[in-house]
Amino acid sequence: MVDIRSVHKSFGPLDVLKGIDLQVRAGEVTVVLGPSGSGKSTLLRTINHLEKVDRGAISVDGDLIGYRRSGDKLYELPEREVLKQRTRIGFVFQNFNLFPHLTVLENLVEAPVAALKRPREQAEATARRLLERVGLGDRADAWPRQLSGGQQQRVAIARALALEPKLLLFDEPTSALDPELVGEVLDVIKDLAHQGITMIVVTHEIGFAREVADTVVFMDDGRIVEQGPPAEVLDRPRHERTRAFLSKVL
Ligand code: ATP
Ligand code: MG
Repeated sequence: MVDIRSVHKSFGPLDVLKGIDLQVRAGEVTVVLGPSGSGKSTLLRTINHLEKVDRGAISVDGDLIGYRRSGDKLYELPEREVLKQRTRIGFVFQNFNLFPHLTVLENLVEAPVAALKRPREQAEATARRLLERVGLGDRADAWPRQLSGGQQQRVAIARALALEPKLLLFDEPTSALDPELVGEVLDVIKDLAHQGITMIVVTHEIGFAREVADTVVFMDDGRIVEQGPPAEVLDRPRHERTRAFLSKVL
């Protein structure tokens, strides 16, 4: 489903991704761990072309992200095509990023109507169903600022689902939350995982990784240091850097 080949990315003199290879199969959950600055967010951002790669290629569900291949040449896709690709890759950020001037329902309806040209009525019905699914069926008419952080993040997840994504990317979805609100958001993500949605989750929640990840990836300094099933990477890490990191977060 996701095929990341030899991806390099620099910001000026700073090499942030130094050759990333990662494959994610349909329906699988990949959890990415690693210290601050190791390139986790940058990697997620390259997957939906919020950052352009300098070298290498990424495809999602067979579509080359950001480019069209013709013979052995790559041509950049026009912005319109990039936006189209991006609508099918849900992205949930640390800070929710809800539209503050739209109600909860409108947050979910806006993109399907504008980007996917869904009839408004249908988009609203889907939005209400998704709000039920994240336990917020009764908050459709609330404003984002009236919700707790955990509720806002659940709305953000429902909003991502409203675009019927092939892939969901989460960048530390619980790290801005008060500790008592982390569980309700992780429960929603676990639910989605059990329903077979393909996802890549950057998080420091090791318990979550152990429970739902098919693959755990440990990144350090722009490289994947090791990857494998949680029982291997978390319980029998082979690399000293993984061990040192885990001893700090566990
Ligand atoms: P954290 O756990 O703190 O979120 P991370 O693993 O997500 O860290 P990234 O955000 O990917 O790390 O950043 C990796 C490095 O790239 C950092 O040194 C960061 O300062 C740098 N960086 C990220 N984005 C940019 C940018 N747009 N311009 C310049 N440098 C950047
Ligand atoms: Mg980050």
